[in-house]
Amino acid sequence: MRFFSAVLAFLICAAIANADERIKLNVRISQAPEGVAAHFEIARDVTNLRLEYRSEFAEGTWAITTPGLTYKNGEVSSATPFHTFDVVVTARNDFVSGPFYPCVIKIGDSGRIVYASYFAGLQSAYDTTISFETPSSTTAIGLPRGGSSFRVERTAAPSDQAAGIYVYLGPASAAKETPLATYIADPAVQPWIQQQLENLASPSLAFYRRNIGISLRRKPLIMTTFSSGRKGAFQADVTEGPNVVFRIFGDQWREKTDRATADIRHTARHEYAHFWNSYAVRSSDNEGGRWLHEGGAEYWARLAEADLDRNERHSSNVESALNKCAANLVALPLSRTTAAASYPCGETIQWFADLGQRRSGKDYFSLWRELLKRADANGGNYSVAMFRELAERNTPTVRDTISLIVDRDGTDRWYELPAILAKLRVKLEAAPPEPAAFRDAVVMHVIEGNCGNGFWIEDGWLKLETEENCGPLSGKPQVDSMNGHNLFTDPKGAFDAVEAACKSNGDVTFSRAGVERTWTVKCDRPLHKPPPTFAYKLKP
Ligand SMILES: [Zn+2]
Repeated sequence: MRFFSAVLAFLICAAIANADERIKLNVRISQAPEGVAAHFEIARDVTNLRLEYRSEFAEGTWAITTPGLTYKNGEVSSATPFHTFDVVVTARNDFVSGPFYPCVIKIGDSGRIVYASYFAGLQSAYDTTISFETPSSTTAIGLPRGGSSFRVERTAAPSDQAAGIYVYLGPASAAKETPLATYIADPAVQPWIQQQLENLASPSLAFYRRNIGISLRRKPLIMTTFSSGRKGAFQADVTEGPNVVFRIFGDQWREKTDRATADIRHTARHEYAHFWNSYAVRSSDNEGGRWLHEGGAEYWARLAEADLDRNERHSSNVESALNKCAANLVALPLSRTTAAASYPCGETIQWFADLGQRRSGKDYFSLWRELLKRADANGGNYSVAMFRELAERNTPTVRDTISLIVDRDGTDRWYELPAILAKLRVKLEAAPPEPAAFRDAVVMHVIEGNCGNGFWIEDGWLKLETEENCGPLSGKPQVDSMNGHNLFTDPKGAFDAVEAACKSNGDVTFSRAGVERTWTVKCDRPLHKPPPTFAYKLKP
């Protein structure tokens, strides 16, 4: 008997050790004038602590106050062993373009928004508990199970998603509670914008809940910040919670215009849709299948607009998404791009799915209800394969339309689309390409062969989304011309010049007016003609 229990005790110990041999890490976060201060306690001595998440956003903001330690690229290290250290992280409220979560943002004078992932040790090595100090009259809001501390759950999700949650730390009086959501707004946010976000939330959340048939597990935390920096930009990110931060930049927002109102309302509804399609359940194809949850959020937002605002822009919205999709998807199949094409192509695919549902006498959202049900039975994850199976079972034509975007390549496919859609009784006309289509086609063609997966259109110039350390176009060049032809005033000239160069394995040179540096690559693949300009004709 005694022997038996000893073995049992040994087995239990072994099981516990196998379950979690990771080093315990406690991180205590408190407010500091610059942003936040964090105190790290590691259960044993190390010479190096790798953190779960790093991004360009955090670089330069971490100042370690413990002598002898340094922070670089999400790694704290020292020549001698350490088990504790302190860091002051400076908040950044400026605009940083790129798909990063900000580390610490100020909201009002004394509020802070903290993206917890930056403070978690690498999941495979550390078992992290993060706590927030809340002296009197301050509070922490948005933690996974309420309260002011949480243990980081181990997840197979990408590193920016482990402990991927925005937490508010600041005066309790700043939070406004309503039955459906908690709001915290920087006092500098234009009142009309905050009013839009709040007025929109209740009916939109109710619309999604009604159509998806699932209530959110927790009340969303909706935060808004403002800084007068970069002109007219607007960024928003949703995290676990569900919590969302809307970041508004630039004084142009002071003026309430129709365009600004429409942008705010659409973005807000897009983000609110993610409360369900990315945080009630999530897509396991988060990267390669980004078009599914992003396109879903776009299309849900359009349907909410149509229903709640009683607008009749549905046909012009789908037409515009389709044209943007075609312009951004010249050579590659969607399954092989992740950048700018995801949103409009994803929205277009949702429209195709909607057409198929309607052909079968079903409503569009019933497809997502079924998808979320399957996700529930699959550990909370849905996938592109599940979505396609559900959407494509309606009719082979829907399979052909989705496949045209996701699986096929080249421009010719776009000229086939009207005939395919005619089988769904949709009248689509294809007119010759617009001048901008020549710019999009020629830029995409060249950067796709050079570690680029898209570009951002700025005011008279482009920012190429290229990978680091990957050939002559590395480092996200900012350009306005190709082979001497301006991409905004002479896009057809640029197209023709590059087309000629590509026929003879010639040079293609990007440049920007007033900038000495140029970027030259070889082109040896034939350039595709741009896609047509589509016009979607509603049946009278
Ligand atoms: Zn989104």
